[in-house]
Amino acid sequence: MADRRAASGASCARRTLRGLMAETAPPFEYTVRRSDRARRVRVRVDPRDGAVEVILPRRAPAREAAAAVDQLRGWIERRRAQAAAAQAHIAARAGTVPYLGARMALVPEAGRTRVHRHGDALLVPAGDAAVRAALERWYRRQARTEIAPRLDAAAAAVGKSYTKLTIRDQRTRWGSCSSAGAMSFNWRLLLAPEVVLEYVVRHEAAHLAVLDHSPRFWALMGRLMPGYERPRRWLRDHGATLVL
Ligand SMILES: [Zn+2]
Repeated sequence: MADRRAASGASCARRTLRGLMAETAPPFEYTVRRSDRARRVRVRVDPRDGAVEVILPRRAPAREAAAAVDQLRGWIERRRAQAAAAQAHIAARAGTVPYLGARMALVPEAGRTRVHRHGDALLVPAGDAAVRAALERWYRRQARTEIAPRLDAAAAAVGKSYTKLTIRDQRTRWGSCSSAGAMSFNWRLLLAPEVVLEYVVRHEAAHLAVLDHSPRFWALMGRLMPGYERPRRWLRDHGATLVL
């Protein structure tokens, strides 16, 4: 996911520009972190809260942080706007959770420990922390139920078989396929519209035939799922909203 961007090295042009840029301080705060592993200046925008972090190589001069923020300002602003939109989106669905494009009402019940589905309602434990943990367990179980048959069909469509299906919890990784045919998927995909889940399942199944993202892969993807570009774009633009 492109939530991190490298600033190009300080150039001569940069130095002449700095005086001009300094007059307009960025309308956001940022933190600076030193890293032994970083080889170049990087800027990261948290997709959840829009917090900006600059990662500086151990020996880089401190002013390179400000230079990187200046240089990447447009990109940072766009990422922050996306994060704000994601926050608003999450706040607006109070009392409900998304499920493959539908919306399920949460009905808290005292004494309940497991989530139980009842039509369009989910009976959940009372208390915020308990709800979230129980919901996550429920979504993980559902993920296997929803993904397994779709993956079977997608693997059959490419004429391959997989060896293993694992459900994971990751912030920005949606699925993977190993060279040995082990598949993993993120349960958060159930928070997305159904076509997005379909896209990720078929994308990973296509990797059973072509492991890289070469033109051959995308040609196969186009045959497996005409119009896959839309759910792909949706995931890129809205992936940060797939949280409980
Ligand atoms: Zn891929």
